[in-house]
Amino acid sequence: MDKPAKKLAILGSTGSIGQQTLEIVESFSEKYKVMGLAGGRNTELLIKQVKRFRPILAYSATELELPSSTNFATMEQIASHPEVDLVVIATSGKEGLTPTLAAIHAGKNIALANKEVLVMAGEIITREAKKHKATIIPIDSEHSAIWQCLQGEISGISRVILTASGGPFYQLTKKQLAKVTVEDALKHPTWEMGRKITVDSATLMNKGLEVIEAHWLFSLPFDKIDIVLHPQSIVHSLVEFIDGSLKAQLSLPDMRLPIQYALSYPERLENPRLPHLDMTKTHLIFKRIDRSRFPCLQLALEAGKRGGTYPAALCAADEIAVSLFLDKQINFLKIGEIIDKTLSLHEGIATPTLEDILATDKWARETALKLAYEGNKC
Ligand code: MG
Repeated sequence: MDKPAKKLAILGSTGSIGQQTLEIVESFSEKYKVMGLAGGRNTELLIKQVKRFRPILAYSATELELPSSTNFATMEQIASHPEVDLVVIATSGKEGLTPTLAAIHAGKNIALANKEVLVMAGEIITREAKKHKATIIPIDSEHSAIWQCLQGEISGISRVILTASGGPFYQLTKKQLAKVTVEDALKHPTWEMGRKITVDSATLMNKGLEVIEAHWLFSLPFDKIDIVLHPQSIVHSLVEFIDGSLKAQLSLPDMRLPIQYALSYPERLENPRLPHLDMTKTHLIFKRIDRSRFPCLQLALEAGKRGGTYPAALCAADEIAVSLFLDKQINFLKIGEIIDKTLSLHEGIATPTLEDILATDKWARETALKLAYEGNKC
C-alpha cells in the first residue's frame, strides 16, 4: 500500500520559497497534504492558497476572512499542531525563530529555509532539536548540497566548502559600489530570490550568514568552513574528507530541487518540472574569494566567531540597513558601515537565553536606525 501523505505546515507560504514549496506539493498531491499555511502581508495570495490547498489552520499578519473549514491560528500553533509531520520554515528574518522552537518542542521535523533562525539562536535551536529528536533539514541550496554529500558518511569530514556566486558586483571597485542602485543590486546573475536575500547576496552578507548556518547545522568549527567563488552556481557546495576525497552536489540553480529534497528526504522523487543539467554545456570556474573586498562578509564571520548575541545583532542591523537601502534612504556601501557601527556598540552576552536574543534584536534595530539617521544628517 502507498504511504500516507506527509502532513505539512508551511510558514511564509506567500514568499518566494513558500510559493515554490506549494508548487512541489502540487506536483505530488498524493504524497503531501497541507495542514497549515502562514503568510505575511500578501493577503490576496494567501487567500488563494488557502482556497486551493484547504489547510485546517492559517495565519496572516494582516486581517483576512477565512473559509469556514480553515481556522485562524498563530504560527506557533500551526508549527506544533499534533497532526503536522514536517514544518517548512520559509519565513524571513527573526520571524521564524519562535515558530521553529515551537515545532522543535513538539518534536516535529523541520525543513529550514529561514537561515536567520540558526544564525541568531543556533546554540538554542540545535540543543533543543537534539533534546526533542527533531531533525533540521536544510533548504538553503548550499546546505542542502552539503547535507546531500554527507548522506551515508559517518565520519572523516576535513572541511566543507560553500560556493558563492559573488552576486552582481564582485568585480566592481569601491568607487563603483558607492553608486550602484537598488535595481542593480536586485539583478542577481544566477538566482531568482526575494529582495532582501538578493541584496544580501550582493554584499556577500548572505554567504557570511551561511557560514554561521553551516557551523550550527553540521557542528563544524569556523576554520573548517571555507568559501569559494563559483560564478555559475552549478556546484552548490562541497565536502572534503580526510582521505582527500571531495564530494560535490551539482544541479542547475533552481530552489525547487533543495525544497523537494527537504520534503521527500530521505527519498528522492522524479519531477519532470525540474531542469536537468547537461554537463557538456557547462564550464565551471572556481576562484579564491578576496574577503577584504566584502566588509559585510567579514563582519558576519567575526560575529559568528564571537558568538553569543553578536550574530543576532548582526542580523537585525543588516535587516534595517538593507531595508533602508531598498527604500533608497542610504547608498550600498552604507549597509556595511551601519552594521559595523552597530556591532561595535554591542555589549554581547556569551550564553544568551531566547529573551536575550530577542532583546538584542530590538536593541540592534533601534541602534542601526539611529546610526543611519545620524549618518544622513552629516
Ligand atoms: Mg544559499
